[in-house]
Amino acid sequence: MSDRSLDDWSIDGRCYACGSTGTGARCACGEPLWLDTRPVPADWPAPDEGSGCWRFARFLPTDPPEGMVAGVGGTPLLRAAALDDYAGCRLHVKDETANPTGSFKDRGTAVGVAAACEAGSEVVGTVSHGNMALSVAALAAGAGLTAVTFVPDDVPPARIANLARFEPEIVPVAGDYGRLYHDSLAVGEEVGVPMLNSDVPLRVAGQKTVVLEILAERTPDSIVLPVSSGGNASAVWKGLRECRRGGLINDDEVPTLHLVQSAACDPIATAYRNGAETVERIDPGETIAYSIANPDPPSGTRALTAARETDGTVSSVSDDAIREAVRQLSTAFGLAVEPSSATALAGLRALCEDGIVETDDEVVLIATGTAFTEGIDADIDVPESIPRERIGERVAALI
Ligand SMILES: [Zn+2]
Repeated sequence: MSDRSLDDWSIDGRCYACGSTGTGARCACGEPLWLDTRPVPADWPAPDEGSGCWRFARFLPTDPPEGMVAGVGGTPLLRAAALDDYAGCRLHVKDETANPTGSFKDRGTAVGVAAACEAGSEVVGTVSHGNMALSVAALAAGAGLTAVTFVPDDVPPARIANLARFEPEIVPVAGDYGRLYHDSLAVGEEVGVPMLNSDVPLRVAGQKTVVLEILAERTPDSIVLPVSSGGNASAVWKGLRECRRGGLINDDEVPTLHLVQSAACDPIATAYRNGAETVERIDPGETIAYSIANPDPPSGTRALTAARETDGTVSSVSDDAIREAVRQLSTAFGLAVEPSSATALAGLRALCEDGIVETDDEVVLIATGTAFTEGIDADIDVPESIPRERIGERVAALI
């Protein structure tokens, strides 16, 4: 367990862009802050040093409370040879759907909730009606905290049914939902409620543990993941930087980061293609990967920098390519992911076709979220029934 307190860490928010330090979520220069790990451990923690992501507590600003928060992370890293031909490389899958609420968000939420408990807060909040809201509602409930989740006022009731089971304060808000990211951070600081938004320092600190888990097991040539707000890409990049700084990987072993968006909403990929320094807001179209459709990503420029600094890419793919990747992950690998997660596989396939990722490259794909918390909108033909006496012939026909 770590022996530092959150007070030691709260002064350590640092800006990746200008190097300034500060508290809160954002630097005076406009870019997001993150929390430095000081010192970076020079050895991997033993596998039994803590459960799940808390094995890496020495990299984190807080220790977990008892209960569900302690069960986050420690997800399997699986060889996916059956998808090698489709992807075009040697594929491994980091299965983040195995987290308590089915997504990578639990890592950042766990650290945020643990820090809130340590600081004596009774309420935590977030701006989300998807995986992040579900994660905050569940882990807050498990830690005895109240969660407040701000959702758009036009969200269909069916979309928040999963969320409601944890009985958070669900607050529909009218007006520009995108502005709520900033408004909620300001309100949170004013009234002393930690807002665990997409890229706040505590969330990024927790989510970096995914790459610590990967690198403690193997050092791939590349890591591929979907990108939306840029918070998770920032977390992965931060994990890589800390591992390099601590000597846990060598300079020439840093995996390349490939980030993927839906073509209907790809502000970070647009900036990458255009050689732009910063990510600008775009007018989005409709996409099945709606949970990564952020037209104005608060950590967009940081994610863009992460890709460039690791000699990686930011690309985007069509909904048809995403649908096919969903199908491949389900039928060839047995993993049910939401379309946003499958975006990474569709993007990887295109990178391999273009020769940017090579056939013998070892790649880890981060499967960010499960399909099981989503509704199914597919038209399914239910097979006709058969008499009980005929089940033998049906099975025999499959042999
Ligand atoms: Zn700055």
